Amino acid sequence: MADEIAFPKGDLMRGKKGLVMGVANHNSIAYGIAGQLAAQGAEMAWTYMGEALERRVRPLAEGLGVKHLIACDVTDDASMDTAFAEIAAKLGGLDFVVHSIAFANKDELKGSFVENTTREGFLTAMNVSAFSFVDVAKRASALMNNGGALISMTYLGSERVIPNYNTMGVAKAALEAATRYIARDLGPKGIRVNAISAGAMRTLSLAGISGGRGMIAQGRAFSAMKEDTSMEGVAGCALWLLSDLGRSTTGEVVHVDAGFHMMGMSADEEEGA
Ligand code: NAD
Repeated sequence: MADEIAFPKGDLMRGKKGLVMGVANHNSIAYGIAGQLAAQGAEMAWTYMGEALERRVRPLAEGLGVKHLIACDVTDDASMDTAFAEIAAKLGGLDFVVHSIAFANKDELKGSFVENTTREGFLTAMNVSAFSFVDVAKRASALMNNGGALISMTYLGSERVIPNYNTMGVAKAALEAATRYIARDLGPKGIRVNAISAGAMRTLSLAGISGGRGMIAQGRAFSAMKEDTSMEGVAGCALWLLSDLGRSTTGEVVHVDAGFHMMGMSADEEEGA
Protein backbone atom coordinates (compact mmCIF):
# COMPACT_ATOMS: atom_id res chain seq x y z
CA MET A 1 0.00 0.00 0.00
CA ALA A 2 2.53 2.64 1.13
CA ASP A 3 4.95 1.50 -1.58
CA GLU A 4 2.52 2.87 -4.17
CA ILE A 5 2.51 6.38 -2.72
CA ALA A 6 4.69 9.14 -4.19
CA PHE A 7 5.52 10.98 -0.96
CA PRO A 8 6.54 14.64 -1.36
CA LYS A 9 10.32 14.90 -1.73
CA GLY A 10 12.52 17.50 -0.06
CA ASP A 11 15.20 18.12 2.53
CA LEU A 12 13.20 18.56 5.74
CA MET A 13 14.85 15.50 7.34
CA ARG A 14 18.25 15.81 5.64
CA GLY A 15 21.03 15.35 8.23
CA LYS A 16 18.66 13.76 10.75
CA LYS A 17 19.18 10.21 12.00
CA GLY A 18 16.38 8.22 13.51
CA LEU A 19 14.81 4.98 14.58
CA VAL A 20 11.58 3.54 13.17
CA MET A 21 10.02 0.73 15.24
CA GLY A 22 7.09 -1.33 14.00
CA VAL A 23 7.31 -2.13 10.29
CA ALA A 24 5.76 -5.60 9.82
CA ASN A 25 4.72 -5.40 6.16
CA HIS A 26 3.93 -2.96 3.35
CA ASN A 27 0.63 -1.96 5.01
CA SER A 28 2.23 -0.97 8.34
CA ILE A 29 1.76 2.65 9.36
CA ALA A 30 5.46 2.70 10.29
CA TYR A 31 6.31 1.82 6.70
CA GLY A 32 4.25 4.72 5.35
CA ILE A 33 5.89 7.13 7.80
CA ALA A 34 9.34 5.77 6.91
CA GLY A 35 8.57 6.29 3.20
CA GLN A 36 7.78 9.95 3.82
CA LEU A 37 10.84 10.45 6.04
CA ALA A 38 13.10 8.80 3.43
CA ALA A 39 11.67 11.09 0.72
CA GLN A 40 12.79 14.03 2.88
CA GLY A 41 16.34 12.73 3.32
CA ALA A 42 16.24 11.00 6.74
CA GLU A 43 18.81 8.36 7.64
CA MET A 44 17.10 5.51 9.49
CA ALA A 45 17.56 2.34 11.45
CA TRP A 46 14.51 0.09 11.75
CA THR A 47 13.69 -2.42 14.44
CA TYR A 48 11.37 -5.31 13.75
CA MET A 49 9.85 -7.96 15.98
CA GLY A 50 11.29 -11.44 15.65
CA GLU A 51 13.14 -13.41 12.99
CA ALA A 52 9.90 -14.54 11.33
CA LEU A 53 9.27 -11.00 10.10
CA GLU A 54 12.77 -10.37 8.79
CA ARG A 55 12.16 -11.87 5.36
CA ARG A 56 9.23 -9.53 4.79
CA VAL A 57 10.79 -6.42 6.30
CA ARG A 58 14.29 -6.59 4.77
CA PRO A 59 13.25 -5.90 1.16
CA LEU A 60 11.08 -2.99 2.34
CA ALA A 61 14.04 -1.54 4.25
CA GLU A 62 16.36 -1.98 1.29
CA GLY A 63 13.81 -0.32 -1.00
CA LEU A 64 13.99 2.84 1.12
CA GLY A 65 17.79 2.74 1.50
CA VAL A 66 17.63 1.76 5.18
CA LYS A 67 20.98 0.20 6.08
CA HIS A 68 20.41 -0.87 9.66
CA LEU A 69 17.79 -3.49 10.41
CA ILE A 70 17.74 -4.68 14.00
CA ALA A 71 15.61 -7.34 15.73
CA CYS A 72 13.90 -6.04 18.87
CA ASP A 73 11.16 -7.37 21.14
CA VAL A 74 10.08 -4.48 23.36
CA THR A 75 8.93 -6.85 26.14
CA ASP A 76 12.43 -8.32 26.52
CA ASP A 77 15.03 -6.21 28.37
CA ALA A 78 17.96 -8.14 26.89
CA SER A 79 16.61 -7.61 23.38
CA MET A 80 16.15 -3.87 24.07
CA ASP A 81 19.70 -3.63 25.52
CA THR A 82 21.19 -5.30 22.44
CA ALA A 83 19.10 -3.26 19.99
CA PHE A 84 19.93 0.10 21.53
CA ALA A 85 23.63 -0.78 21.81
CA GLU A 86 23.57 -1.57 18.10
CA ILE A 87 21.69 1.67 17.31
CA ALA A 88 24.28 3.68 19.27
CA ALA A 89 27.13 1.90 17.48
CA LYS A 90 25.65 2.19 13.99
CA LEU A 91 24.07 5.65 14.07
CA GLY A 92 26.21 7.31 16.76
CA GLY A 93 23.19 9.32 17.98
CA LEU A 94 19.52 9.89 17.36
CA ASP A 95 17.39 12.85 16.26
CA PHE A 96 14.01 11.12 16.05
CA VAL A 97 12.04 7.99 16.95
CA VAL A 98 8.83 6.54 15.52
CA HIS A 99 7.12 4.12 17.94
CA SER A 100 4.44 2.27 15.97
CA ILE A 101 3.95 -0.81 18.12
CA ALA A 102 0.94 -2.33 19.86
CA PHE A 103 -0.38 -5.73 20.80
CA ALA A 104 -3.29 -7.31 22.68
CA ASN A 105 -4.52 -10.88 22.66
CA LYS A 106 -7.27 -11.44 20.08
CA ASP A 107 -9.59 -12.83 22.77
CA GLU A 108 -9.56 -9.45 24.50
CA LEU A 109 -10.44 -7.50 21.37
CA LYS A 110 -14.04 -8.60 21.15
CA GLY A 111 -17.33 -8.47 22.99
CA SER A 112 -17.66 -7.37 26.60
CA PHE A 113 -14.68 -5.50 28.04
CA VAL A 114 -15.74 -6.40 31.57
CA GLU A 115 -16.20 -10.11 30.85
CA ASN A 116 -13.29 -10.72 28.49
CA THR A 117 -10.45 -8.78 30.09
CA THR A 118 -7.97 -10.93 32.04
CA ARG A 119 -5.14 -9.76 34.28
CA GLU A 120 -2.57 -11.35 31.97
CA GLY A 121 -4.11 -9.93 28.80
CA PHE A 122 -4.48 -6.47 30.30
CA LEU A 123 -0.85 -6.40 31.43
CA THR A 124 0.37 -7.69 28.05
CA ALA A 125 -1.47 -4.91 26.21
CA MET A 126 -0.12 -2.32 28.66
CA ASN A 127 3.41 -3.68 28.45
CA VAL A 128 3.72 -3.80 24.66
CA SER A 129 1.54 -0.82 23.79
CA ALA A 130 2.20 1.72 26.56
CA PHE A 131 5.16 0.89 28.83
CA SER A 132 7.37 0.19 25.81
CA PHE A 133 7.12 3.86 24.78
CA VAL A 134 8.40 4.95 28.21
CA ASP A 135 11.30 2.50 27.93
CA VAL A 136 12.09 3.57 24.36
CA ALA A 137 11.98 7.25 25.36
CA LYS A 138 14.44 6.63 28.19
CA ARG A 139 16.89 4.75 26.00
CA ALA A 140 16.53 6.98 22.92
CA SER A 141 16.81 10.27 24.80
CA ALA A 142 20.19 9.13 26.14
CA LEU A 143 21.34 9.16 22.49
CA MET A 144 19.83 12.59 21.69
CA ASN A 145 22.50 15.17 22.36
CA ASN A 146 21.09 17.96 20.17
CA GLY A 147 17.42 17.75 21.06
CA GLY A 148 15.08 15.46 19.16
CA ALA A 149 11.54 14.31 18.58
CA LEU A 150 9.56 11.15 19.34
CA ILE A 151 6.13 10.09 18.15
CA SER A 152 3.84 7.20 18.99
CA MET A 153 0.65 5.98 17.33
CA THR A 154 -2.69 5.98 19.09
CA TYR A 155 -6.42 5.66 18.33
CA LEU A 156 -9.65 7.32 19.45
CA GLY A 157 -10.57 4.22 21.48
CA SER A 158 -8.49 5.85 24.25
CA GLU A 159 -11.00 8.69 24.61
CA ARG A 160 -14.28 7.09 23.60
CA VAL A 161 -15.80 3.65 23.80
CA ILE A 162 -15.25 1.86 20.50
CA PRO A 163 -16.86 -1.61 20.38
CA ASN A 164 -14.29 -4.46 20.62
CA TYR A 165 -11.30 -2.12 21.09
CA ASN A 166 -11.56 -2.82 24.84
CA THR A 167 -8.18 -3.46 26.52
CA MET A 168 -6.37 -1.68 23.72
CA GLY A 169 -8.39 1.47 24.38
CA VAL A 170 -7.21 1.47 27.99
CA ALA A 171 -3.61 0.87 26.88
CA LYS A 172 -3.86 3.76 24.39
CA ALA A 173 -5.16 6.04 27.17
CA ALA A 174 -2.04 5.11 29.16
CA LEU A 175 0.15 5.72 26.11
CA GLU A 176 -1.32 9.21 25.61
CA ALA A 177 -0.87 10.11 29.28
CA ALA A 178 2.68 8.75 29.15
CA THR A 179 3.32 10.98 26.12
CA ARG A 180 2.55 14.06 28.24
CA TYR A 181 4.68 12.96 31.20
CA ILE A 182 7.61 12.07 28.94
CA ALA A 183 7.23 15.41 27.13
CA ARG A 184 7.51 17.21 30.48
CA ASP A 185 10.63 15.28 31.52
CA LEU A 186 12.47 15.56 28.20
CA GLY A 187 11.36 19.10 27.31
CA PRO A 188 14.35 20.77 28.98
CA LYS A 189 16.67 18.67 26.76
CA GLY A 190 14.95 20.08 23.66
CA ILE A 191 13.19 16.79 22.99
CA ARG A 192 9.56 16.92 21.81
CA VAL A 193 7.16 14.02 22.35
CA ASN A 194 3.82 13.68 20.58
CA ALA A 195 1.25 11.10 19.53
CA ILE A 196 -0.72 10.77 16.31
CA SER A 197 -4.28 9.53 16.74
CA ALA A 198 -4.95 7.95 13.35
CA GLY A 199 -8.32 6.83 12.04
CA ALA A 200 -8.81 3.12 11.33
CA MET A 201 -6.54 1.82 8.56
CA ARG A 202 -6.24 -1.59 6.91
CA THR A 203 -3.21 -3.17 8.62
CA LEU A 204 -2.27 -6.42 10.33
CA SER A 205 -3.10 -4.93 13.75
CA LEU A 206 -6.59 -3.92 12.65
CA ALA A 207 -7.22 -7.46 11.40
CA GLY A 208 -6.76 -8.65 15.01
CA ILE A 209 -9.74 -6.61 16.23
CA SER A 210 -13.16 -8.21 15.93
CA GLY A 211 -15.11 -6.17 13.34
CA GLY A 212 -11.98 -4.26 12.30
CA ARG A 213 -13.29 -3.67 8.79
CA GLY A 214 -16.42 -2.14 10.29
CA MET A 215 -14.20 0.34 12.12
CA ILE A 216 -12.93 1.58 8.75
CA ALA A 217 -16.43 1.80 7.25
CA GLN A 218 -17.82 3.64 10.28
CA GLY A 219 -14.77 5.88 10.47
CA ARG A 220 -15.48 6.95 6.91
CA ALA A 221 -19.26 7.25 7.29
CA PHE A 222 -19.14 9.33 10.49
CA SER A 223 -16.09 11.43 9.58
CA ALA A 224 -16.50 15.09 8.76
CA MET A 225 -14.81 14.55 5.40
CA LYS A 226 -16.63 11.30 4.53
CA GLU A 227 -13.40 9.61 3.58
CA ASP A 228 -10.87 7.06 4.84
CA THR A 229 -7.82 8.12 6.80
CA SER A 230 -4.97 8.29 4.30
CA MET A 231 -1.42 7.05 4.77
CA GLU A 232 -0.27 10.32 3.17
CA GLY A 233 -2.05 12.29 5.88
CA VAL A 234 -0.62 10.23 8.74
CA ALA A 235 2.90 10.26 7.25
CA GLY A 236 2.64 14.01 6.59
CA CYS A 237 1.71 14.63 10.22
CA ALA A 238 4.66 12.50 11.32
CA LEU A 239 6.96 14.58 9.08
CA TRP A 240 5.65 17.79 10.64
CA LEU A 241 6.12 16.50 14.21
CA LEU A 242 9.57 14.96 13.61
CA SER A 243 11.08 17.76 11.52
CA ASP A 244 11.89 21.31 12.62
CA LEU A 245 8.45 22.32 11.32
CA GLY A 246 7.10 20.86 14.57
CA ARG A 247 9.23 23.15 16.75
CA SER A 248 7.29 24.24 19.90
CA THR A 249 4.73 21.40 19.65
CA THR A 250 5.06 18.82 22.41
CA GLY A 251 2.85 16.68 24.64
CA GLU A 252 0.17 16.77 21.95
CA VAL A 253 -2.18 14.11 20.57
CA VAL A 254 -2.92 15.08 16.97
CA HIS A 255 -5.97 13.49 15.34
CA VAL A 256 -5.48 12.46 11.72
CA ASP A 257 -8.81 10.79 11.00
CA ALA A 258 -10.70 12.97 8.49
CA GLY A 259 -12.53 14.58 11.42
CA PHE A 260 -14.03 11.38 12.87
CA HIS A 261 -13.02 12.26 16.45
CA MET A 262 -15.00 15.48 16.77
CA MET A 263 -18.37 14.38 15.38
CA GLY A 264 -21.15 14.20 17.98
CA MET A 265 -23.92 12.65 15.91
CA SER A 266 -24.12 10.65 12.72
CA ALA A 267 -25.11 12.43 9.50
CA ASP A 268 -28.32 10.40 9.20
CA GLU A 269 -29.60 11.57 12.55
CA GLU A 270 -28.74 15.20 11.74
CA GLU A 271 -30.54 15.02 8.41
CA GLY A 272 -33.54 13.19 9.84
CA ALA A 273 -34.18 15.83 12.54
P1 NAD B 1 1.10 -3.37 12.23
O1 NAD B 1 0.62 -4.72 12.66
O2 NAD B 1 1.63 -3.24 10.87
O3 NAD B 1 2.16 -2.80 13.26
C1 NAD B 1 2.21 -3.20 14.62
C2 NAD B 1 3.65 -3.49 14.93
O4 NAD B 1 3.84 -3.79 16.32
C3 NAD B 1 4.20 -4.69 14.13
O5 NAD B 1 5.33 -4.31 13.39
C4 NAD B 1 4.56 -5.69 15.22
O6 NAD B 1 5.66 -6.49 14.88
C5 NAD B 1 4.89 -4.73 16.37
N1 NAD B 1 4.97 -5.41 17.66
C6 NAD B 1 3.97 -6.09 18.31
N2 NAD B 1 4.47 -6.60 19.46
C7 NAD B 1 5.79 -6.21 19.53
C8 NAD B 1 6.83 -6.45 20.47
N3 NAD B 1 6.65 -7.18 21.58
N4 NAD B 1 8.07 -5.92 20.21
C9 NAD B 1 8.28 -5.19 19.09
N5 NAD B 1 7.33 -4.94 18.17
C10 NAD B 1 6.10 -5.46 18.40
O7 NAD B 1 -0.20 -2.43 12.43
P2 NAD B 1 -0.34 -0.85 12.41
O8 NAD B 1 -1.78 -0.61 12.29
O9 NAD B 1 0.62 -0.25 11.48
O10 NAD B 1 0.04 -0.46 13.91
C11 NAD B 1 1.04 0.48 14.24
C12 NAD B 1 0.55 1.38 15.38
O11 NAD B 1 -0.51 2.19 14.90
C13 NAD B 1 0.02 0.64 16.60
O12 NAD B 1 0.38 1.33 17.76
C14 NAD B 1 -1.49 0.73 16.39
O13 NAD B 1 -2.22 0.58 17.59
C15 NAD B 1 -1.57 2.13 15.83
N6 NAD B 1 -2.82 2.51 15.17
C16 NAD B 1 -3.32 1.72 14.18
C17 NAD B 1 -4.51 2.10 13.56
C18 NAD B 1 -5.14 1.24 12.49
O14 NAD B 1 -6.32 1.38 12.22
N7 NAD B 1 -4.39 0.35 11.83
C19 NAD B 1 -5.16 3.28 13.94
C20 NAD B 1 -4.60 4.08 14.93
C21 NAD B 1 -3.42 3.67 15.55
